Parts: sequence; structure tokens; C-alpha cells
Amino acid sequence: MTFASLGLSPQLVRAVEERSYSEPTPIQTAVIPDVLLGRDVRACAHTGSGKTAAFALPLLQQHSVLPREMPLPIRSLILVPTRELAAQVGESFRQYARYLSTPVKVLTVFGGVSINPQMMALRGGADIVVATPGRLLDLADHNALSLRSLTTLVLDEADRLLDLGFAEELERVLSLLPERRQNLLFSATFPPAVDALADKLLRDPLRVDVPSTAATEPDIQQRTILVDAPRRTQLLRHLIEEHGWTRVLVFVATKYSTEHVAEKLSRAGIKAAALHGELSQGARTWALADFKALRSQVLIATDVAARGIDIAQLPAVVNYDLPRSTEDYVHRIGRTGRAGESGVAVSFVSASTEAHMRLIEKRQGVRLTREIVVGFEPSQEEAAAAPAAGNGGVKGKRKSKKDKLREQGLK
Ligand code: AMP
Repeated sequence: MTFASLGLSPQLVRAVEERSYSEPTPIQTAVIPDVLLGRDVRACAHTGSGKTAAFALPLLQQHSVLPREMPLPIRSLILVPTRELAAQVGESFRQYARYLSTPVKVLTVFGGVSINPQMMALRGGADIVVATPGRLLDLADHNALSLRSLTTLVLDEADRLLDLGFAEELERVLSLLPERRQNLLFSATFPPAVDALADKLLRDPLRVDVPSTAATEPDIQQRTILVDAPRRTQLLRHLIEEHGWTRVLVFVATKYSTEHVAEKLSRAGIKAAALHGELSQGARTWALADFKALRSQVLIATDVAARGIDIAQLPAVVNYDLPRSTEDYVHRIGRTGRAGESGVAVSFVSASTEAHMRLIEKRQGVRLTREIVVGFEPSQEEAAAAPAAGNGGVKGKRKSKKDKLREQGLK
């Protein structure tokens, strides 16, 4: 299967080839032809399945054949739960659109930053708007945009949209849209509330269920976060609190770092222990027993010390320092997602380790989106030196209470 055989134009195929996508992922193969035909879609798909391109590519193709009117009427609206996702999805659209002969204006709008630049950017309209629901409604209330010409609505990560309390906003957004439109709903899970939303929204949808790889492989979500090296411990604390990880195994490069990071976390009130090869066998056994019995929440280890650690319920592994080899990477992330549980493996990446992370990804045949966590944006030099940061424009301004709540749902 190729992208061209799914009906995509040579310009779009060129853009995906440039991103080294050798073939479409299952969700892309299933969804793209039907989206091109204008059909509704109800897709159960996880982050990492390639779902963004599954809707972005066919929508761009639809746009590229429409006559251009001025001001540009908004044709597609992508609603997402968090500003980080908004930034990522917007960036993906821009990348895929780069060779289209008709320019496509993609705007990303989210809360927590000043509304004025977004209002200015909306002058003259836009083809595609990627938005969090609250800010979209603020803009609509300011008459900064009209959704009356919309042809396609995408709900991305619908389960998280509802989890983050956006049900009311969603209702209001729907009331601003024309009755006749294409609807695409993507969600990693389908609890009753999402099911009900899908039933209400979709007409005779194509139903796609991309099973997570859990059936055959462990269900491990891999993430990479751009962060300046000196801020890693703070980010670690932030992630532990944000996600409520009951246990986390953190990998560092040296014995010194195991102790240093453990000490800093302990001082911050998080029960943390170090595990390295120079500890006596007794001390190692204790450290592991404490971790297994949840007497310590964080275990900071070197690769050698962590061999053979097998804990059934380990929700998260963090690569505080990247491993030297791909084998170590696979070994490390394999500590989580055991025994049918799902797990997350987070790697901290800075400008100086970006190339190394790329290599690990290449050897593994994956390409992970670089995330930026609000409040932990890499310094300008770092961000500029890391071209893979597909996440431009996220600035940590003052956060409202609601923004903070939404961030809880950060991927
Ligand atoms: P998503 O599930 O949309 O968040 O995508 C996860 C990652 O997979 C992103 O970094 C995409 O750039 C990448 N990706 C999307 N489609 C493909 C493909 N066909 N081949 C390889 N990587 C892809």
C-alpha cells in the first residue's frame, strides 16, 4: 500500500515522503479514502498510530481543489483537548501542506496566551483552524471568526475532550456549525459518554478500530519531551504529580546521578531511592524491595543495575539521560507495559542529545513527536538548535485555573 494508491495528490505524497514515512499506517489506510469521499468516520486510535495524518492529508487534499474566496471561509475545524496537541496538529498540517500549489492557511488557537494576536491572524479568514474549545468560543464571542461555511469537523482525542470537562463548550461549538457537514471523531477509548457523542454527531460513519499493539506487543506509549538539561529534575517532579504515577523508574547515566537525583526528589518530599552497581547486594535488594512494596515511589537507576527488574505494575519509565545504545533503550522501556498493563516511556531530549535520539528512533523504525511542556520550554538556543521540535509557538504565559485543569490531561 502506498500513499498515492490511497488517492492522495503527488504534492501530498512528496511531503510525507520527505518526512520518511515509507508506507501508510493501518489507520491511514483505513481512513484516508473515505475521508476523501466526504464520509463520516468513527475511529478508535491511539496517539502514535498516525491518526493526525489520517485526517490532515485528505482534508488538505479537499482544500486544495476548492476555489479560493476572500476572506477565506473556515472549511475545517479541528478541536483538540490541549494547547500542546493544538500546536502539534497545526504544525503537522503545515508540514504536509508545504508543496500544495494553492496555499492553505492553517491557524492554531488555544487559551493561556493573549487573544489579540489570534484575532489579528484571523483577519482575512483561514482555511483550517485547529483549536481548543474554550478559546475558539472566546474568538467566536468576539466575532473574530465565523464557522458558517464549515464543511468538516474533526474531534481529536474526543475522550480527553470530555475528560477535561469540555462537554458544554462542545455543545456550544456545535450550535455554531452548519447542519450539513462531514464529521470525523478520533478517540483512544470509547466510554459511554464518547459513544453517545459519536452517535449524536456521526451519520453512517466508517467505523475503524485500530487495535493497540497490546495483543502482540506490550502497550507502551513512547514520548519525547524537549527540555533544558538543568531543568530535568523539576520536569520529572511535574510529570510525577501531573500524571499521578504511583511508581516510576528513572534511568540516568552515572552512579553519581542516581544519588543526586534521588536526593533532590527526596528533598522535595518524593520518596526516591538510588540503584547502581556499586551498592552492596543487600542495599540493592532493599532498594528494589522498597520500590516493589511502594515504600519508595521513584527508583533512579543505571542500566546495569536495572537489568532484570520485573515489576508487574510500573506505569512509567523515564529516560532522564538517554541510553547509549538502542538495545538499552528497548530494554529500558520494556520495564513498563508488562503483564498486559499499559505504560509510558518518556525520554528527555535537549539540543545536545537530539541527534542521538534521532538515531535511536531510526534504529527502532519510529519517529516520535517532540513535545514541549508548558512552563518547561527549552531556552531559545536549545529550541532553535533542535529542528525536530514540531511544536512551535507554545509559550508559557500566565495560566488560568481552567488551563491548569486542561493540562492535567496533557499527553
Ligand atoms: P500521531 O498518531 O498522529 O500522533 O503520529 C505519531 C507519529 O507518527 C508522528 O510523529 C508522525 O509524524 C508519525 N507518522 C505518521 N504517519 C506515519 C507513517 N505513515 N510512517 C511513519 N511515521 C508516521
